Amino acid sequence: MAYRWLGRLAYGSRYDRVPWGQRVYVRPGERLVREAQWQWLIRRAPVMTLEEYRKLRTLGEIEEFLSCMMCGESRQQPLFVPTGGTGKGWRYHVVRCPSCGFLYRNPNVRPERLGDLYASGYSNFLSGKYAANRQRRYDLTMKAFSPVFDEGKERRLLDFGSGVGLFLELAEQRGFDAYGVDLSPESVEQANQRLSRARTYFGAPEDVPEIAAGRFDLITLWSVLAHLPRPLEDFTKFRSLLAPGGVLLILTVNAQSLLLKAYGSKWSGFTKNHLMFYSSKTVRTLLARTGFAGVAFAHHYGDTIEAGTTALRPDLTKRLRRNVARSDGGNMMRVLAFADEEAIGRWGGGPLTIHRLHA
Ligand SMILES: [Zn+2]
Repeated sequence: MAYRWLGRLAYGSRYDRVPWGQRVYVRPGERLVREAQWQWLIRRAPVMTLEEYRKLRTLGEIEEFLSCMMCGESRQQPLFVPTGGTGKGWRYHVVRCPSCGFLYRNPNVRPERLGDLYASGYSNFLSGKYAANRQRRYDLTMKAFSPVFDEGKERRLLDFGSGVGLFLELAEQRGFDAYGVDLSPESVEQANQRLSRARTYFGAPEDVPEIAAGRFDLITLWSVLAHLPRPLEDFTKFRSLLAPGGVLLILTVNAQSLLLKAYGSKWSGFTKNHLMFYSSKTVRTLLARTGFAGVAFAHHYGDTIEAGTTALRPDLTKRLRRNVARSDGGNMMRVLAFADEEAIGRWGGGPLTIHRLHA
């Protein structure tokens, strides 16, 4: 409330019609204020040993305590307590690693109890508008990484966490030899009804012979990374499933987002089933430790802005783009990881800026 009042005082009603998700990027000076606020929060939050931290929390039946999976640091810096709002019935704690800055839920969910999080209704996302918005997002992201996804040319593609097949549908239209895996049997069934050439399978990649055979030219993870309780093991697996010259695409919420710095526990990336929150720095660590050779990022300006359908005034759109580029890269992070030197050689030198990773 105090924040709203201060906003009113500083900016009047000039930005009232700008949606919340865009406001922090278009109000003059706000970026610097939010960055300062974030630095202040980090400096002020206590740093404690895991033992001290354990004493503060009660452990739920499906939960476990973790150290930082990116760097091994066991000390904890408690930062946020997202709740999803009144009546939503969930609440968890987010800590920051004081060594590498990784944000993660602690206590976290034990991998063997992940199913409890998805107990009901995870596959009924097929309604028209939802599907159209999702597919627009996939198209815009493929465009941002052009030319990698421009033409399928029968290249082998694996969509990990393929849901009801919304991305696989686009992939088969572009001529990819596309496969999916998912942990919801209902979703797999719906996907296979939707698709004509592409096929999805229920289970983990190693349990499905068609997937375990590997040799994929592309692997895609659409809004999956934040849900993985054992990311290092999963990415080691993904790396081994890629053919020489292969690439892996990630779309996930961006833990460096100016919106996170502004809204804290109320940030849109803190959803019920998210377990870990990556920035461009921590995703590099994950990729380097699991054997990837290079990485490229594409800023996310927001789907309506990139699709040209935004209601935002042109001058404010310009300011938003500038502030996204200067601060954090946007509320979503879009990452393309390159398996080896062959992949870097194949896609480097074009419009993509590829950074080499060192284990
Ligand atoms: Zn760490």
